Amino acid sequence: MSELLHLACPHCLAVNRLPAERLAQGPKCGVCHRALFDGHPIALNAEGFDKQLQHNALPLLVDFWADWCGPCKMMAPAFAQAARTLEPRMRLAKVDTEAEPELAARYAIRSIPTLILFRGGREVARQAGAMAAGDIVNWALRSQ
Ligand code: ZN
Repeated sequence: MSELLHLACPHCLAVNRLPAERLAQGPKCGVCHRALFDGHPIALNAEGFDKQLQHNALPLLVDFWADWCGPCKMMAPAFAQAARTLEPRMRLAKVDTEAEPELAARYAIRSIPTLILFRGGREVARQAGAMAAGDIVNWALRSQ
């Protein structure tokens, strides 16, 4: 009898329940049938963010960024690369602080890019400033 993990679908936000051993087998959403992990960070608005925060058995690593921010754009490929390494151990997501200022305010984001690692709905670590892919992976694994 294996533990069932709760995972919010990145596409339709339906909450899936799946055995832990299926994580590495390319699981699909039971509702929209799209891949629960596709190796890319998912873009979250406030609704999606709360779903991923509250219905997610995995650590959630969020990149708070904005379109006008040069270092954010520089870090984007590194964050995408980190997603390919860290999934499905973690869920990687991005929040556009211009589009979602209430999320930026809720977490008192003072500079971007800022990475926040959540576990069980709570912030466990944060890091401001652009990082290389390997540093993102190492920091996230160390902090989870
Ligand atoms: Zn779905």
